[in-house]
Amino acid sequence: MTYMAQRVSNFGTTIFFEMTDLANRHQAVNLGQGFPNFPGPDFLKQAAIEAIQDDVNQYAPGSGRPRLREAIAHKMARFYGLPVDPDSEVTVTHGATEAIFATILGLVNPGDEVIIFEPYYDSYVPAVQIAGGVPRFYTLRPPNWAIDRKELTALFSDKTKLILINTPHNPTGKVYSEDELSLIADLCQTHNVIAVTDEVYEHIIFDGAKHVCMATLPGMSTRTVTISSAGKTFSMTGWKVGWTIASPELTQALFRVHQFMVYCGAAPLQEGVATALQAPHTYYTDLAAMYESNRDFLANALLKAGLTPIMPKGTYFIMADIGQLGFPDDVTFCRHLTAEVGVAAIPPSAFYHNPADGATLARFAFCKTRETLEEAARRLVKLKHSAASRKLTMSN
Ligand code: PMP
Ligand code: GLN
Repeated sequence: MTYMAQRVSNFGTTIFFEMTDLANRHQAVNLGQGFPNFPGPDFLKQAAIEAIQDDVNQYAPGSGRPRLREAIAHKMARFYGLPVDPDSEVTVTHGATEAIFATILGLVNPGDEVIIFEPYYDSYVPAVQIAGGVPRFYTLRPPNWAIDRKELTALFSDKTKLILINTPHNPTGKVYSEDELSLIADLCQTHNVIAVTDEVYEHIIFDGAKHVCMATLPGMSTRTVTISSAGKTFSMTGWKVGWTIASPELTQALFRVHQFMVYCGAAPLQEGVATALQAPHTYYTDLAAMYESNRDFLANALLKAGLTPIMPKGTYFIMADIGQLGFPDDVTFCRHLTAEVGVAAIPPSAFYHNPADGATLARFAFCKTRETLEEAARRLVKLKHSAASRKLTMSN
């Protein structure tokens, strides 16, 4: 007899717990789980400290502190020209993770189909399953991760309720182009489907690429739930301040879940983020420039180690092809890399419904100090040698 409910019994443990634990046990440089190992900006910390000292310490309104909702609406107008009503179209959530759950639980009925691009962020599928929805997968393939019109069109049916898009995309670093988003927008309108766009890496974008907000495309503002959070933009993943932007009707649906799941998020942190979002343009461009330089440094280190990096256009992750090294799969490779080379990475098979599709790849995070990346680069040099001696032991 097991006490665990059937709805969670096949979930397993998230790969992020598993790899961070392995990295800690081997004192490996952790390029696995994506969290910055440098401090976030002082102006953000200071604003939260002041809010605590000013006794902003009781429950926030369920939809979030008014100053934060206004700052979010203002930011959407400033960066994307999207008009947003802070009272009826914004909900402040406990990170983007809660936003994803509340949106899916608030909109998906049992039997509804949800289109998911894979590799996917690992909370999407459990959220759809808990709602009783049926995931339908579109597999993005390296090195371009491009979308084929015919293949995507074939996934839409009368049962499709929702399509989940993540741009810039974790783990591939793909930034969906305006053409790709327009294709999705057309399909959503033809089939009466809602687009849920996870844009948590919206400000981490390289090589002059442009982040396009799905909600700004013609006909999409009333059928899009835009999700973002402060964690990546302000290098404070532990704060868990996220939000949704959606029409009043869609907002009400997700709010019904949000109110009973968390009621509200942490009030003083919301005040901090309200101040932070007003940072000048240079804060955002400096962030992207810093990450672009980290990307180039790590890509070079991976190349020298015998891996083939697939250059990301956004996010703080880089995928690399591990095919040449002779490992049976990505999990064996990442365990070997962590234990024998002292660098942790994430095996991307965790982000595919068919793990074999991720078996020749590994994901590395570059949201780390330059010293950490340099130490990883020094260790990665050992990879070729350790992989060769492993092969030798296996064949004996
Ligand atoms: N979506 C994606 C694509 C992510 O990479 C993350 C990172 N954890 C999240 C959502 C969750 O964001 P948060 O920490 O704000 O819950
Ligand atoms: N978003 C981060 C990643 O993809 C961490 C997520 C988590 O730990 N849940 O690595």
